[in-house]
Amino acid sequence: MRTFISFTEALDCVLSHAVPTRVEEVPLSEAISRTLAQPITARDDLPPFASSAMDGFAVRTTDFSDDPHRPVQVVDHVAAGDARSLSVQPGTCVEIMTGAPFPRGADAVIPIEWVLERDGDRVRFERIPNAFKHVRPAAEDIQSGTEVFTGGERITPAIAGMLASLGVDPVPVRVRPRVRVISTGDEIVPASSDIGPGQIRNSNGPSLRAQVLEAGGSCDHFEHVPDDPEAIRAMLADENSADLLLFSGGVSVGQHDHVKQVLDAMGAETLFWKVKQRPGKPLAFGRLGSTLFLGLPGNPVSSAMCFEIYGRPVIEAMLGRTTPRTPLLSARLGRSIKKVDGLHFFTRGIARVNESGQLSVVDTGPQGSNLYGSVVMANCIVHLREAGDYVAAGTVVQVQMLPWSGLDEISSPA
Ligand code: AMP
Ligand code: MG
Repeated sequence: MRTFISFTEALDCVLSHAVPTRVEEVPLSEAISRTLAQPITARDDLPPFASSAMDGFAVRTTDFSDDPHRPVQVVDHVAAGDARSLSVQPGTCVEIMTGAPFPRGADAVIPIEWVLERDGDRVRFERIPNAFKHVRPAAEDIQSGTEVFTGGERITPAIAGMLASLGVDPVPVRVRPRVRVISTGDEIVPASSDIGPGQIRNSNGPSLRAQVLEAGGSCDHFEHVPDDPEAIRAMLADENSADLLLFSGGVSVGQHDHVKQVLDAMGAETLFWKVKQRPGKPLAFGRLGSTLFLGLPGNPVSSAMCFEIYGRPVIEAMLGRTTPRTPLLSARLGRSIKKVDGLHFFTRGIARVNESGQLSVVDTGPQGSNLYGSVVMANCIVHLREAGDYVAAGTVVQVQMLPWSGLDEISSPA
């Protein structure tokens, strides 16, 4: 087991052990926020046929080379959904509606607003557009045979619309990684309870479960276990109950921190314990059979931050995601921050776009790992590298947005 490793070593280790889940098919209507599991190739052109972009008349522009006001004969009317294959002969035109198949022989649509005079089946126009005007060619958006998605994309509303246009329903997606959220601690009581002496309400359970769901994992309910090795062991009796175990608490060096010892005794392999970081120094990671485990420190700030830093990327890797939901962005620090040399800091921050259009960030204030209000206020995590005990205002740092808050929700100036 490695111990007291750097943040990058820890993250690399965690990611290198994540295995993508299997593929399942779900109806397109249920595929939002799921992850595409396979490449998607267009089997049709998009749009599938040339059509009119306007209500008007499909004409041959060469009919008007000498005289734009020359009358032509309206020989037919075609609306969207008309399956006939029409053609336009010299001296004639077809009245056409938006979305209707564009007739052969014609090369432009004259909008209805440009009609100068209509007399029965004869029509004259004020002016004539250039060839190809107001015609939507077939395959203008996507050509049949094109790989539109590589797989690994998170299915957004826009992607769902594209999948529908491409006729992809059901959709191949990755099975949601099964995650168990297990809060440890004799002092922990449910949120619905009054608190007795020495007790605190379980905040990690609800927050971690919500983070797991947001990241694309599944978690029916969060669980609680007292600081009792036997009870912890009993909870892990079913070896195949999860792809990822998320413990909160019980991984530090206290006499009542039993999680690691129980896992060790069950034959788990701890891959690392303790990381040069704040918050979350006692973080543990390993595997029990084919199940990965993350032992998150119990402090609510550490638990929430360590999930975003390590838990989310593991779930995304299990989903085969090609791009992280919360990539690192560069931002200019608006206020100096003191730190501890030798520890990578995950400082809760408030990022906003300043008047010059640049991203700037300040810390949320006191950063104690018991001060959960700092997580509530934050919209990002500010990464402050291991080396150095001070980061000066004006330094460009990296920030990782918290997926549940956006830049525009910030009211306090950065
Ligand atoms: P531990 O890592 O178990 O030593 O816990 C560190 C601190 O976090 C202690 O003050 C615990 O009471 C607190 N804590 C642990 N688990 C939770 C939880 N699920 N909800 C809120 N606070 C917790
Ligand atoms: Mg504890």
